[in-house]
Amino acid sequence: MIEYEDLSRVNSPYKQKFSEAFSRFLDKGWFVLGEEVKLFEEEFASYCGSKYCIGLASGLDALYLSLLALDLPEGSEILVPSNTYIATILSIVNAGLKPVLVEPDLGTYNIDAKGVKEKVSPSTKAIMLVHLYGKPCKMDELINIAKEYNLHIIEDCAQAHGAKYRGKTVGTWGIFGAYSFYPTKNLGALGDAGAIITDDPLMAEKLRALRNYGSQVKYKNDYVGINSRLDELQAAFLRIKLCDVDKINEHKRNLASIYKQELNSDYVIIPKEQENTYEVFHIFNIRTEKRDELKQYLFGKGIKTEIHYPIPPNHQQGYKDKLQGSYPLSEEIHRTTLSLPISLIHTGDEIKMIAQTINRFFEGDL
Ligand SMILES: *Cc1c(COP(=O)(O)O)cnc(C)c1O
Repeated sequence: MIEYEDLSRVNSPYKQKFSEAFSRFLDKGWFVLGEEVKLFEEEFASYCGSKYCIGLASGLDALYLSLLALDLPEGSEILVPSNTYIATILSIVNAGLKPVLVEPDLGTYNIDAKGVKEKVSPSTKAIMLVHLYGKPCKMDELINIAKEYNLHIIEDCAQAHGAKYRGKTVGTWGIFGAYSFYPTKNLGALGDAGAIITDDPLMAEKLRALRNYGSQVKYKNDYVGINSRLDELQAAFLRIKLCDVDKINEHKRNLASIYKQELNSDYVIIPKEQENTYEVFHIFNIRTEKRDELKQYLFGKGIKTEIHYPIPPNHQQGYKDKLQGSYPLSEEIHRTTLSLPISLIHTGDEIKMIAQTINRFFEGDL
């Protein structure tokens, strides 16, 4: 069986280093927001080419606290792609703001700049864009629109660690870059973790307070914050894995190029290469009207796949009253997309075999 992902195998090469880090951590007896967090923040900021990094408990909190830090007026509208993972939209709802869905570009799956322009209103205060699947958004266009309408840009980089647009790392284009280190992400912890990067010193200071009950000086609360502190242990693990994130990304890029070479584009829609981007393929998705049959067929051949995502946000029961309108492009993606295995554990030969199996499905080997 070819697994879609196997986190035990992904992490096993680090066993020795993780054990050493755990021993140090236990001996030290400092468990939350300590030296490891501080060092990880410095190292991750430097990796991204950003001035500050604030370690947090999750990617959702990174998005949510980005919005809180901006202190936007009640009823502010935040533009967000209609095909994103639910966390992006949830952060806006939790912040008491209004998510306004913008359809993606079907070629890139990222928020469409034209759509952004159409949905801007006097209440719009920010674009929360998502570098979905590890594909960087076309930032030039979006930055121009943001300038024209005086909007903040918050970048959801949860699927795009190390991805670049015009040589500049995602998360450094807008005021905030929000990262998740959930175990499956390209840089994954052994539990929940997240971070915000920013170049703004005042915002960085505010975020350090917001993550810790609005407090920077013990028992003095300058803001109404939350508890979203990063654990020392996760920071220690992340520091070890950060050294390899480029290697992981390169491996995924190699596998992606094998898929692109081997898959027959008469049968399935293959992700397009974009100019001036360094993609990191958190997800490698193809699209086909026969998605469900293909998924079943592959499973029968011992190949596991996933769907990111099966239900569009505007069809989610919990969001019925919050997300109005119809989003045909997003719905089409959700109906036809299939994510193929593309992990550190997969070899080029396996990817070739998967691609050939997909081609055979369309050639009628049922
Ligand atoms: C994973 C993910 C998040 C949320 O991160 P958590 O760490 O799970 O809270 C947000 N946005 C996107 C696009 C994601 O893939």
